[in-house]
Amino acid sequence: QNHLLTRLARHAALTPDHLFAERPGRAGVTYGGLFQLAERIAAALTDAGLTPGDRVAVQVDKSTEAIALYLGTVMAGGIFLPLNTAYTAPEVAYFLSDATPRIVVCDPAREAEIAPLSPAQTLTLAEDGSGSLMQSLPGTASFDAVARGEDDLAAILYTSGTTGRSKGAMLSHGNLASNSEMLRDYWRFTRDDVLIHALPIFHTHGLFVATNVALLAGASTVFLPRFDPRAILRAMPRATALMGVPTFYTRLLQEADLTRELAANMRLFISGSAPMLVETHRQWQERTGHTVLERYGMTETNMSTSNPYVRERRPGTVGLPLPGVELRIIDDAGAEVPDGEIGTIQVRGANVFQGYWQMPEKTAEELSADGWFLTGDLATRDAEGYVTIVGRAKDLIITGGFNVYPKEIEGLIDDLPGVVESAVIGVPHPDFGEAVVAVVVPEGAANPVATETAIRAALEKNLAKFKQPKEIIFAPELPRNTMGKVQKKALRDTHDGMFS
Ligand code: ATP
Ligand code: MG
Repeated sequence: QNHLLTRLARHAALTPDHLFAERPGRAGVTYGGLFQLAERIAAALTDAGLTPGDRVAVQVDKSTEAIALYLGTVMAGGIFLPLNTAYTAPEVAYFLSDATPRIVVCDPAREAEIAPLSPAQTLTLAEDGSGSLMQSLPGTASFDAVARGEDDLAAILYTSGTTGRSKGAMLSHGNLASNSEMLRDYWRFTRDDVLIHALPIFHTHGLFVATNVALLAGASTVFLPRFDPRAILRAMPRATALMGVPTFYTRLLQEADLTRELAANMRLFISGSAPMLVETHRQWQERTGHTVLERYGMTETNMSTSNPYVRERRPGTVGLPLPGVELRIIDDAGAEVPDGEIGTIQVRGANVFQGYWQMPEKTAEELSADGWFLTGDLATRDAEGYVTIVGRAKDLIITGGFNVYPKEIEGLIDDLPGVVESAVIGVPHPDFGEAVVAVVVPEGAANPVATETAIRAALEKNLAKFKQPKEIIFAPELPRNTMGKVQKKALRDTHDGMFS
């Protein structure tokens, strides 16, 4: 038995003709069709020399063929290793030298750049399915999935690199299967669902949440190659669920025809990967009548908390620990903090990864012998157990010896009239060590409301002197990656020399 694949393939056997993916401009893909293709890919990878435990590194545009490649790799006993399509050749070179894959699959247009970066065999796959991978497939195949247990690795997924160099998280068959099965049940996905899938598939959100949950439920997807607000609105009347990052929601809110009527068939809007502003939650509720369900997870742990399906979804919080996930909030000495106080989130459970690929010291620092993983996310918990993320430990500002939590200041600034959003960072300062700097995105450049004077006046009323920004900078937008994560490290680098 192949622990993960047997589960993912269940609906291909039960309902082979059921639609897995509706694709714009291309024929739909059934469950049977998807897994037949996966079997042929597994056969081709095996012919190309893949043996169990070998890595298959994949940097390709989103397609259902790429999903079949993921399934085929796992079926053949390999370890799937997707890479962000935005990575340049020098960046890909690092990942390939770190992960030493047996096979690399890249876009045909980039073959000349990528193939020389490693001794691996290179195959190609384009967004439309063309390329040498598909040409290498046997005409028909019935491939018996290679036996793999719960503890065998199914994937190495590199973290987003928000706080530093990306780390390869080793995820086992058991990690992925248990978390996705639990999410399917917790969020009540069934064969009747139609999920709008507009997320990239090189990240845990699009691959191990959206794709795995849909497959395990036997649900259909509207499989969009990229985020396109118009395409999402077109799909909405026949869809039941959307999984997105907060920027999906803020962009969709800019579309005039997002209405209650359009969203009438939808049962669930899920957000994660980055914090959603309370204001966005409020606007979404007002425009569509639906309350966004926000959840929290990371590459290393899959999903750890979620707002409830039935009970209250509390904007600004990431909800409660999911079934099977233990969560505690600890201080620097490792003791649990009382409710309402800030500490670092630690999680334990079948969802927690096996360690960082080839980084035993880093693994030992963050993953304790008894299974607790230190996430590096700072949070509080209220009396009912709802968790609120207040930022990352690495973004904590220490100014003149005092701790400043950026979220507290950002929250106050974001609530002011004429402000879209803000990011508060620590910038090196000769006297204070770090100085608090606020980067503010104002509404409409000509808006006179969000002036520096108005922001300062509001903060002075609410914040101790040491928390008040030494500088307030206006910017047209905040730097974000494809997952909508604000790149605070990039902001710090930009403003690094401002006090020196
Ligand atoms: P790196 O670990 O390389 O610095 P990263 O942590 O951004 O990058 P991911 O694993 O993709 O890489 O992201 C996980 C992080 O995303 C979490 O640790 C958390 O900080 C953030 N996150 C995810 N969901 C939420 C949410 N709902 N609210 C706030 N933050 C979230
Ligand atoms: Mg991280």
